Amino acid sequence: AFDVLVIGGGPAGAASAIYAARKGIRTGIVAERFGGQVMDTMGIENFISVSHTEGPKLVAQLEQHVKDYDVDIMNLQRAEKLIPAATEGGLHEVVLASGASLKARSVILSTGARWRQMNVPGEDEYRNKGVAYCPHCDGPLFKGKDVAVIGGGNSGVEAAIDLAGIVAHVTLIEYDSQLRADAVLQRKLASLPNVRVITSALTTEVLGDGGKVIGLTYKDRNSDTSHVIDLQGIFVQIGLVPNTEFLTEAVALSPRGEIEVDHRGGTSVPGVFAAGDATTTPFKQIIIAMGEGSKAALSAFDYLIRLAPA
Ligand code: FAD
Repeated sequence: AFDVLVIGGGPAGAASAIYAARKGIRTGIVAERFGGQVMDTMGIENFISVSHTEGPKLVAQLEQHVKDYDVDIMNLQRAEKLIPAATEGGLHEVVLASGASLKARSVILSTGARWRQMNVPGEDEYRNKGVAYCPHCDGPLFKGKDVAVIGGGNSGVEAAIDLAGIVAHVTLIEYDSQLRADAVLQRKLASLPNVRVITSALTTEVLGDGGKVIGLTYKDRNSDTSHVIDLQGIFVQIGLVPNTEFLTEAVALSPRGEIEVDHRGGTSVPGVFAAGDATTTPFKQIIIAMGEGSKAALSAFDYLIRLAPA
């Protein structure tokens, strides 16, 4: 059995595996796709101490760093079920899609999340070429330009407020007849001179010139008419979905499906820890996921040294 079995090979999982292995304990990592969301990222400019890097390059370095240690890497393997130990201090079981089953004295869940997409023509084609999902990451790339934010919930309105301080103009597009964000955020948004809000609007297409985004079309749901907006960037803020569907029966999840964690990365199950975008920890960023992953590994080690000898 593993001492620490990490599920997920993004920045949180890689950090967990390195921190665990450095304690000299038996460590494994199961990843559906090593690298996670970072594989889909072009420029990264907020990974502190590295002024600029690219997703695939950072993933190669992450993998090399993990391989510097004695970690059993099981890539291209999806976990389908977690069966927590029947008794405290017992072995947890992780069942893989391949049918194999792994046992571990402690488990770290770091399966990340995925941005909900609009699923309209042009969205995939212009991803990273004007279509963006993370204002903290990509906002500065649109300095002085015109952008749209899709979605009028808290994350959309926060993104619009954030971007309004950087870009020339923000158009916020909401499907419903009114914004769904907290009143205090809506008041702040309404006070900004360079933001326009369009409600009852369904984005129907991302327009581009072959290389980058040049606009979008939306349908006014009241009049059923179609409109074009010229712009250079589109931030899609219609939800970040945690990859936790397989955990619903195993650990406590928030109403949004995020794994509930305490300040040590502990979940509702003793010996099961979690880190990164899959958890309730706010602000989904690489450096935060790595910090949380390291913390979860140290908490797992702390848990293990208190167990009766196996
Ligand atoms: P993830 O990176 O999502 O990794 C999850 C891992 O779990 C993957 O290996 C996945 O294959 C695996 N997995 C999922 N389900 C299972 C399962 N059932 N079984 C086994 N494995 C599973 N952040 C920044 O700080 N700066 C940026 O510039 C930046 N740009 C971004 C650009 C884009 C386009 C996107 C999508 C995100 C960006 N982010 C950026 C956010 C950043 O990528 C995430 O915050 C970070 O990757 C979260 O790390 P994580 O390890 O928690 O999860």
